[in-house]
Amino acid sequence: MQYDLLIIGGGIQGAGIAQAGAAAGFSVLVLEKTALASGTSSRSSKLIHGGLRYLESAQLRLVRESLHERERLLRQAPDLVHLVPFHVPIYRDSQRRPWQIRAGLSLYAVLGGLGPNTRFQALPRSAWDGLDGLRRDGLQAVFRYFDAQTDDAALTRAVMHSAQSLGAQLQMPARFVAAQIGDHGCAVQYQHAGQLHECRARIVVNAAGAWAGEVLAGFTPALPAPRIELVRGSHLVLPGQLGQGIYYLEAPSDQRAVFAMPYQQHTLVGTTEAIHTGSADAVSATTDEQTYLRDVVGHYFERWRDVEPLRTFAGLRVLPAASGRAFTRSRETLLLCDRQQQPRVLSVLGGKLTTYRASAETVLAALRPWLPARRAVADTRELTLG
Ligand SMILES: Cc1cc2nc3c(=O)[nH]c(=O)nc-3n(C[C@H](O)[C@H](O)[C@H](O)COP(=O)(O)OP(=O)(O)OC[C@H]3O[C@@H](n4cnc5c(N)ncnc54)[C@H](O)[C@@H]3O)c2cc1C
Repeated sequence: MQYDLLIIGGGIQGAGIAQAGAAAGFSVLVLEKTALASGTSSRSSKLIHGGLRYLESAQLRLVRESLHERERLLRQAPDLVHLVPFHVPIYRDSQRRPWQIRAGLSLYAVLGGLGPNTRFQALPRSAWDGLDGLRRDGLQAVFRYFDAQTDDAALTRAVMHSAQSLGAQLQMPARFVAAQIGDHGCAVQYQHAGQLHECRARIVVNAAGAWAGEVLAGFTPALPAPRIELVRGSHLVLPGQLGQGIYYLEAPSDQRAVFAMPYQQHTLVGTTEAIHTGSADAVSATTDEQTYLRDVVGHYFERWRDVEPLRTFAGLRVLPAASGRAFTRSRETLLLCDRQQQPRVLSVLGGKLTTYRASAETVLAALRPWLPARRAVADTRELTLG
């Protein structure tokens, strides 16, 4: 069997590209070795957001695109994506000053098109008592704005379901084993139901997330290893609920942003950023990471001082290899082709849950000139999810 696109990975990127590919009329096969969203796409902070913090590293294009995708998802997936109030408390000793937050939120609103969901305000002091027991000592201002939350795994499944309804095929559990690159495509071998299967694809899309390097190593002739780093982000699930939405907290030790968020009748706290050197299959929150997150949340909320988490989880970001803090590195999706003209292998690295659809359309735009003409059957800007 020959496919136009063979996609390795059933995370949000693989599902998004399958949806966009099938919508454009291409024949698509997705291989997923474990289960949909079994990798990073179920271990994110579950925010569909522009990312206020990315303004500090001047990622304006990404923030604008993310805010536009957020609006689209609020319309297209109303059961899966919900608008939530975010609170940014500013204390006497906070590094970020009230004027900076006001300026940042104004820019955020402009990048978001000044629509109704970009409104923000400084809460009056009379409202501070209602903020879930947030520490009042030294508090100077609290800003409230809006972003969105989702269930990342459910969103991934919904996007794949949409792709399948447009004709994409999914093999699962099916592990990509190897591929031979020819002049006009690839011969691909994968393991499924205890047997080795083979098929052909005009273009193989490597959307294997943290396993992308491992997958690339399976191609003949050999392809260069991508210059990426895996950065671990950990979360704690704490007992007790937040009634007023999400809190955007500045870590006292290193001024990073840490979120405390309502999550399945509990509270989710994250995240950290540490270079991960071990296997992508074994990722968990280290004791140091747990202590760091407990210190941050305990600093702002008395009720979580010295409280044991109910559970913890960690995921891996794929970031371009570079010196400097992971916190300020680009969150843009990176595309890597085996060659500029008539590519046969394209790797999709990094990116955000929020921008999966826009990234998928960028992938399609890059590949379309090298694929046969097909008649589009749908437009991803209009498909509903869930
Ligand atoms: C801690 C953390 C928090 C984040 N928070 C947010 C957030 O709040 N909002 C946001 O927008 N983004 C967030 N992100 C980013 C976002 O979660 C990721 O960019 C996204 O989930 C990556 O999806 P993916 O499809 O590339 O990878 P994955 O979800 O990891 O999918 C890769 C898939 O490939 C499969 N696979 C691997 N090898 C093979 C093989 N040989 N054969 C077949 N299948 C294979 C795996 O099983 C896996 O399912 C966060 C990231 C991290 C790490």
